[in-house]
Amino acid sequence: MRLLVVEDEQKTADYLRQGLSESGFQVSLARNGLDGHHLAMTESFDLIILDVMLPDVDGWRILQSMREAANSTPVLFLTARDSVDDRVKGLELGADDYLIKPFAFVEVLARVRSLLRRTQTPVSHDEMQVADLELNLLKRRVSRAGKRINLSHKEFCLLELLLRRKGEVLPRSIIASQVWDMNFDSDTNVIDVAIRRLRSKIDDEFEPKLIHTVRGMGYKLDVEPDNEL
Ligand code: CA
Repeated sequence: MRLLVVEDEQKTADYLRQGLSESGFQVSLARNGLDGHHLAMTESFDLIILDVMLPDVDGWRILQSMREAANSTPVLFLTARDSVDDRVKGLELGADDYLIKPFAFVEVLARVRSLLRRTQTPVSHDEMQVADLELNLLKRRVSRAGKRINLSHKEFCLLELLLRRKGEVLPRSIIASQVWDMNFDSDTNVIDVAIRRLRSKIDDEFEPKLIHTVRGMGYKLDVEPDNEL
């Protein structure tokens, strides 16, 4: 998640940058209104934290330019003044939320997270993805690195199961009952054959390998380094 912080007060700016970076965000910092305006208008961010009182171009101008340009990046503005007018103005100009200075970092983090939750497009349950492999349940389509892959019905069901249980080692007995609706008979190699065919389609030409054999246990799908023995 990329965040832009526009803040001219060095202490607050550094405090925000450090805290947000440590919370796992990628943070760009603009220390004046001109830089903030430029970054907000030219780069893409998941959220912008915008100080209102800036020496050159103020926060309102930045927000106004963004909204006029149909840039709908969520904006959390910071205001030192506990004035109703300011809050109303910010929200009228199209900001999504505000914080009154001084604030505690936990407050910033809570607002940022809640704004991101509110504004992110929810992930559709019809789509599953790992690395560059995508499976669309409704369209029954699979692609890797943007390349369409044709799977048989059973291969599709097998891949769907592996994706749903990503990272878990699935014993052959589970795969047999879920995909073939049968009890696993160790004499049959139907699962291994299907896995081999699936692998040749989704893994052979691509990196990283996604389907892994866990010896003596079963199979799993993950982006972790191959731990086949
Ligand atoms: Ca300021």
